[in-house]
Amino acid sequence: MEHLPDHLLSGYRNFMGGRYSTETKRYRELAATGQKPMTMVIACCDSRAAPETIFDSGPGELFVVRNVANLVPPYQPDGGHHSTSAALEFAVQSLKVKHIVVLGHGRCGGIQAALDPGAEPLSPGDFIGKWMSMVAPAADIVANNSMMTVGERQTALERISIRFSIANLRTFPCVKILEDKGRLSLHGAWFDISTGELWAMNRQSGDFERPGNG
Ligand SMILES: [Zn+2]
Repeated sequence: MEHLPDHLLSGYRNFMGGRYSTETKRYRELAATGQKPMTMVIACCDSRAAPETIFDSGPGELFVVRNVANLVPPYQPDGGHHSTSAALEFAVQSLKVKHIVVLGHGRCGGIQAALDPGAEPLSPGDFIGKWMSMVAPAADIVANNSMMTVGERQTALERISIRFSIANLRTFPCVKILEDKGRLSLHGAWFDISTGELWAMNRQSGDFERPGNG
């Protein structure tokens, strides 16, 4: 195969004949004026949980960063290569988004790995293990709760980690300041890939609830 896989090329042809042709004007405007999305979404890499699909978003609407298990690391201004923090900085300081949504999902492989930290790493680097160790304290408590089933533990940690990521967002001074001024809102959501249900986090209680018309 010299170029791209056939399924990508045929998908691209459909895009050009469909969405691009109906939204040509919008794409051209966005090219000329630049993007101005109001919402940043932090989502998982999982192929079943694409935020643009779930929220039926057009070009220019969502600024998306995806990583394993939709985690936000704490603010760490050191010499590391912090990809999620870089995207967050750009969204907040340059694009001036009004909303940040941490979007988790059911059957998350990253969360499953966090609940089974003794499993053999996928490679000598154990990048997933190190990345997911961010939620290790909560994962340990949930994993050792014998009152819960495997499925309940999985869903619980998926939701706990969303609250954890939102707490980490507030460790970034730019996020904290703008939230305190009422210019930025932080939200959590959880998507059930088997039923298509979207659960939104109640910002007062932290509980996940079905929105009215969901
Ligand atoms: Zn996931």
